[in-house]
Order: sequence, then structure tokens, then C-alpha cells
Amino acid sequence: MRNNTCKGDKLKYIDEIKINSLLRVPVNEKEVVRILEKSTQLKRLSLEESAKLLCVNDYAILQKIYDAAFYVKNSIYGRRVVLFVPLYISNICENSCLYCGFSSKNKTTIRKRLTFKEVLEQTKILLKRGHKRILMVAGEMAYSKESIGYYINAIKAIYSASYKGNRIKRVNVNVAPMNVEDFGKLKEAGVGTYQIFQETYHEETYKKLHTSGAKSDFYNRLNAVDNAFKAGINDVGIGPLLGLYDHRFEILALLMHIEYLEKTYGIGPHTISVPRIEPAPGSEYSLNPEHFISDEEFKKLVSVLRLSVPYTGIIMSTRETANLRDVLINLGVSQISAESKVTPGGYENNLKEAINNDEPGRQFSLSDQRSLNEIIISLLSKGFIPSFCAACYRKNRIGKSFMNLAKSGEIKHMCDINALITFKEYLEDFADPKIIKLGNSFIEEYKMKILDEISLEVLDKFLLNVDAGVRDVYV
Ligand code: SAM
Ligand code: SF4
Repeated sequence: MRNNTCKGDKLKYIDEIKINSLLRVPVNEKEVVRILEKSTQLKRLSLEESAKLLCVNDYAILQKIYDAAFYVKNSIYGRRVVLFVPLYISNICENSCLYCGFSSKNKTTIRKRLTFKEVLEQTKILLKRGHKRILMVAGEMAYSKESIGYYINAIKAIYSASYKGNRIKRVNVNVAPMNVEDFGKLKEAGVGTYQIFQETYHEETYKKLHTSGAKSDFYNRLNAVDNAFKAGINDVGIGPLLGLYDHRFEILALLMHIEYLEKTYGIGPHTISVPRIEPAPGSEYSLNPEHFISDEEFKKLVSVLRLSVPYTGIIMSTRETANLRDVLINLGVSQISAESKVTPGGYENNLKEAINNDEPGRQFSLSDQRSLNEIIISLLSKGFIPSFCAACYRKNRIGKSFMNLAKSGEIKHMCDINALITFKEYLEDFADPKIIKLGNSFIEEYKMKILDEISLEVLDKFLLNVDAGVRDVYV
């Protein structure tokens, strides 16, 4: 029996009529200023307020939105940026999403499902480069053929890998929806965040783009987060795939989804992603998506999300260019991927071909071609701490307890300290001499900015331990 189903209520909380009417309401500068005042007090915005910000087109008012997003980002997240890497374990898929290189309709692509030995080898390559957080990704067939056991064993293989005493600290997953029982098994296996993109919240468009396979059921997909929560997975990541429908509609629908989750389960998502469509092999649609979004509009929607849901992490993948990602970090992005491959088995010991947009079996093309080292140098030069931290998850600061710490501002202190400890570990075990020098002086300078003496004392003790070879410590 097929297993990748999470059927359930067809709850119509995505109110298309309301979204369309909110996007027609005129907006003036005075109102925007009032909304921005509210958000700089780190208060969550209403749907109506978010809609008004999304409708701003005036250049000068847009700058005010960017400034407010910068302020909120720094107030809650400080200067740390969390780094992760995707690990594709299978590109076998029974669905036919029009925009994806893994679609079952793409008969020319090379299909591959990694064995657990291969998953282990891929993980070791990533560990050797210094990665500590993995996003495990799979096409839908991986699940239906071998059931949940395939994911569980792949997660186990990832956690079992080690290099110089370093292990992967957190495995997040982006895989097909499943029932509550199987989500429970995923939780037992130690999964971090369960990530799933609705692709489009516009039901009619969804039906046009997903014509066959389990994914053709809009509500089956929408209910996935409910099932994950019901199974006790507290950290979920959601988002639309931008380019399929009007992006302002998608952002308001995403915010409606969040309101529904908050009302029903008492928490919203741990992270939001806003991937934009990239060219995919075998997909004409992906070359010319119906609802193209300019970089300026993209900057605006990331900023509006930062202001609307200040306590939710925002993820930006290597789909975007290096330059744009650098800008977006200032506007609200808190987690970024690095040196990604979107092909199962795509990582090789030799880094020289970091990204190959012609690679057979890939899902789509990527833009940010920088290595992890290059990204770290860039973050340091802009005053950001590269973080490999997963302390919250391991100390059970997840779901509601994480949100409460974020809201009280306590998380910022912990994050700073943990980020610096994990960065120091990186410098000790993986960095080349140039980065070691740069990184150590960055840490010393940053310490001076931590005014609170107790935090400084705690941090110094941890840094000395890392110097002495102690690994994987956190507050
Ligand atoms: N197969 C599972 C699913 O669809 O949920 C999980 C993994 S799928 C490989 C991950 C995500 O890739 C999809 O949810 C979709 O948003 C994104 N994606 C698919 N095609 C894309 C493209 N051409 N450009 C950018 N992102 C794409
Ligand atoms: Fe399969 Fe996911 Fe690609 Fe759709 S987006 S074709 S479900 S891998």
C-alpha cells in the first residue's frame, strides 16, 4: 500500500477572496510609517499590514522598509548567519511537477538513489569541508518504494559519519508528505526541521502544474505540516516556490498558513524559504515561468516577511547569486546554504568543480558558485559570524520554547556565543592559514562588542576548551 499520504481535512483557511481584496487596498506613506514603527518594536504584523507593505512601489518608501527589516534582523538575530548544505539522496520521482528536473515526465535524466554506503561517503566529504548541518532532499519515489525505512536509514548513515571528532549536528529533511505515524518515526530518527514547500497556494494553478502522482492533491500537501506537528515534530519549514503565481498572493497566503498554524498548534514555522524557479533540465516551463519576479520585488518580499514574522528564520539557497544573497542577509535572511549540489552523489573530494550546471541528473541550475571558504570570507568582511550551531535543537529549545526565547531577546546572546564557538571549531579543524588569521582576529574584535561580562567569561572558557581539542560544546 502506498504510504506517502497524509490526507485529512480540506480546511479552506487560504482565503483567496480575502487575499485579492487586501491587495487592492490603496496605501499611503503615513500608514507605512505607522506599520514600520510597530515592526521596529518587534511586534508581529497583521495580514492587512503586511499586504500594505507588499503594495509599496515608491522608491523612497521602499528604502524605509529595507531599513526597518535591517533593524529587526539585527535586533533578533544579531550578526550570526547559519550555514548548511543540501544532500540529495534520490532523484527518482513519481510526480510530474512541470517546473522540476526530477519530474517523471523527464525521460532523459539520469536517475539515482544513493545506497546507505554512498550516503555515508557523501556525508564524509561534506564533514571534511567543515559542514555540520545537512538538509536531506529526495524525489517522491524514494519514499513510496521503500517506505519510511529508506529515509530513516539514510538519516542514521548521515549521523554515523565522523571526521576528526566532528559529526553532523543536525539533519533537516525536505521530502514528500507522510502520515502521522511515519512522521513519528522520522522524529525518533532525530530529524531536525521537516521542510515542505506548498509550491503555490493558488489552488487552480497548483492543479495545472501538478497533474499526476500523489503531489497532485493540493490538500494532501497542505496537511503535511499538521501531520508533522501531530507527530511531535516541532520545527517545520514552509514556503512557496516563486514564479508559479503572483508572488504577493503567495506571500499573503503563506502568512495565512502561518496564522492557521499559530491558532491551531500554538506555534508557527521555524523557518520560511522563498525559492525562485531556476532553469531545470527537461522543463520548458522553468525557462520561462509565468510570474517572473525582479530582484527588487524579491528584496521587498524578503523584507516584508522579516517584518511580518520577526521570530521565524528565513532561508536563502544558492539558487540566488552571491551578490543578491549578500544583500538579503542584511534584509532578514538568517540561514544560507553553501557549495550545494542538487544531484544525488554530486559531492566529490575534489572541490575544483564546485558547481556544474550541466551535470546530468541535477534538479535545476544554481547561481552562487562560491566555496564554503569563500562564503565565510565574505561573511566576515561584512561583520557576520558564520555559524554551524545546532544547540537549540540539542538542548530541546525547539518549537514554542525557542519562540519564547526569541521573543524575549535571550536567544541572541546564546546564538552569538554558540556561533563563535562553532566558528572557532571550524578554524581549528578545517580552515586554511588565511582564514585562520582572519577568523581569529574577527573573534577577538567581536568579543569586545559583547558588553556583558558574564557572557564574555563563558565564551572565553569555551574558546579555551576548543583550543585544547574539546569539540561540540554549546550553551
Ligand atoms: N520531492 C519533494 C517535494 O517536492 O516536496 C521534496 C524535494 S524537491 C527536490 C524540493 C523543492 O525543490 C520543491 O519543493 C520545489 O519547491 C523546488 N524546486 C523544484 N523545481 C525547481 C526549480 N526548477 N527551481 C527551483 N526550485 C525548484
Ligand atoms: Fe518530484 Fe519534488 Fe521535483 Fe515534484 S518537485 S518532480 S515531487 S522532486
